[in-house]
Amino acid sequence: MNKTVVVTGAGSGIGRTIAQVLAQRGWLVVVSDINLAAAAETVATLSDEHNRPHESAELDVTDPVAAAKVADGVADRLGLSAWVSNAGISFMQKFLEIPLDQYEKTLAINLKGVFVCGQAAARAMARTGIAGSIVNTASMAGKQGKVPFLADYVASKFGVVGLTQAMAFELAEHGIRVNSVCPGYVATPMQARELAWEAELRGTTPGDVRQMWVEDTPLARLEEPEDVARVVAFLLSEDASFMTGEALAINGG
Ligand code: NAD
Repeated sequence: MNKTVVVTGAGSGIGRTIAQVLAQRGWLVVVSDINLAAAAETVATLSDEHNRPHESAELDVTDPVAAAKVADGVADRLGLSAWVSNAGISFMQKFLEIPLDQYEKTLAINLKGVFVCGQAAARAMARTGIAGSIVNTASMAGKQGKVPFLADYVASKFGVVGLTQAMAFELAEHGIRVNSVCPGYVATPMQARELAWEAELRGTTPGDVRQMWVEDTPLARLEEPEDVARVVAFLLSEDASFMTGEALAINGG
């Protein structure tokens, strides 16, 4: 099977680790991010015993023209067999204080971005006759709205879970599988920002917030990006060939 994958938001955090794990498991990885320098840094970290020519690509996931250019370019040159829509942002604020433009920005990157990239990827796969696989990074905040200070984010991630189901349903006729992953508290630059915001909003310290998050997790530790990346690799693999439309919780319980 041809194994070329595009990962969005792969210049940092979970996306970078997904790129690393997929490269180790034999995928040729196109590392995309709105920040091209960060994407190139990720490419430089990929260890691959077969020296595959991994690439970086600048891509703002809200831009349908750019997404189609990446998807079609990869499909025509290399064969596009998988796409991971991972790019996302978060911002913490009390519901009553969230500015409308922040809500719109969160929805644009986290939800419209998944739509735009999913459409570009699926069109390229269908056109080239590849029964590919798509994974969207949702969140536990896409299954459970009872989380503080993240109403815009919750709305976007519930949307990702539903959109994933609708895409899976309609793309099945092309043999394209679509699933989402729902991580918990993952140690990334995004999490470092959230620790600081939540501490400020609660009038406590980042250390206390971190402790609360660990106590909220039955397996009693914060999540590592590898915990997510290994499940993404599974969903893209033949082992998951009869799974589609799922939203897999990866959150320590
Ligand atoms: P991060 O901030 O470390 O990395 C996000 C990456 O996305 C950055 O490289 C950034 O440049 C890129 N990005 C931002 N806007 C973009 C755009 N418009 N187009 C393309 N790229 C863009 O965050 P992370 O923690 O690695 O999060 C990755 C994904 O995982 C997000 O979808 C996030 O919502 C989700 N998630 C994170 C956690 C967590 O605890 N960290 C938990 C659940 C879900």
